[in-house]
Amino acid sequence: MYLPIINTCEAEACSYNSGRTCHAGAITVGDTTHPHCDTFVAADTRGGVATETGHVGACKVAGCRHNRDLECQAEGINVGYVGNVDNTVDCLTYSPR
Ligand code: SF4
Repeated sequence: MYLPIINTCEAEACSYNSGRTCHAGAITVGDTTHPHCDTFVAADTRGGVATETGHVGACKVAGCRHNRDLECQAEGINVGYVGNVDNTVDCLTYSPR
């Protein structure tokens, strides 16, 4: 099964982030309209596998041109902040159809 890699992630406060790299096995992105990272968590516990780079497991943003059947088909994605008022962590590769 194809899972796009997460090339970079700016969310260094996330438990899965080390060196601006995501180490979650597979993240979930979005609600039905907004491409935020659903896996972001700022906890005391470190998460993920340090030797692995995270992938996109599922994406609920059907309006993105990289999305097919609620799965991401991009070669890879970047994750970070878009200067949004609620300071959520978003998929920066999102591109509306
Ligand atoms: S590029 Fe599009 S389909 Fe892929 S994770 Fe980001 S918002 Fe979802």
